[in-house]
Amino acid sequence: MTVQDAPALVLNADFRPLSYFPLSLWSWQDAIKAVFLERVNIVSNYDQVVRSPSLSMHLPSVIALKEYIHLSRRPAFTRFNVFLRDRFDCQYCGAAFPVPELTFDHVTPRSRGGHTIWTNVVTACSACNLAKSNKTSREAGMYPRQQPYQPTTWQLQDNGRSFPPNYLHESWRDFLYWDSELDPD
Ligand SMILES: [Zn+2]
Repeated sequence: MTVQDAPALVLNADFRPLSYFPLSLWSWQDAIKAVFLERVNIVSNYDQVVRSPSLSMHLPSVIALKEYIHLSRRPAFTRFNVFLRDRFDCQYCGAAFPVPELTFDHVTPRSRGGHTIWTNVVTACSACNLAKSNKTSREAGMYPRQQPYQPTTWQLQDNGRSFPPNYLHESWRDFLYWDSELDPD
């Protein structure tokens, strides 16, 4: 790993990650800037050192905000968050798809008065979206596997934990809980 891609894991003041998915990471430049602005404490370091004429310092691998950020209880209504709520599974055929192959389906079609709200949109694969088209669930005989709901930030964080990123630095592991079960002593 080069200095260029040595991101810092960002924790809230309670030492929980700001976000699981996408994982809250800052570039080393942003991390160092925040250290000098005294907005964060360094929790763990990389072996790599950056040097300038006046100082040399280890790149931070984990930083924690000094001031606790209250996460809003209601997450933003975005396509990504709808997919995350539905765990990237098509709500009609139940199969999992990569994000670019997922679409946003109105359970009650817009042409039939359905609104673009948490409780009327679900994740669907292109094939199912096409099959359902402008029909209601009853007309199409296609019902979402899970009734769409307004999730809380915590529910989305929980879902995000099911999708660990490909790369995790050793020093991050103490602060990330990908499994709900802890090993007994
Ligand atoms: Zn499908």
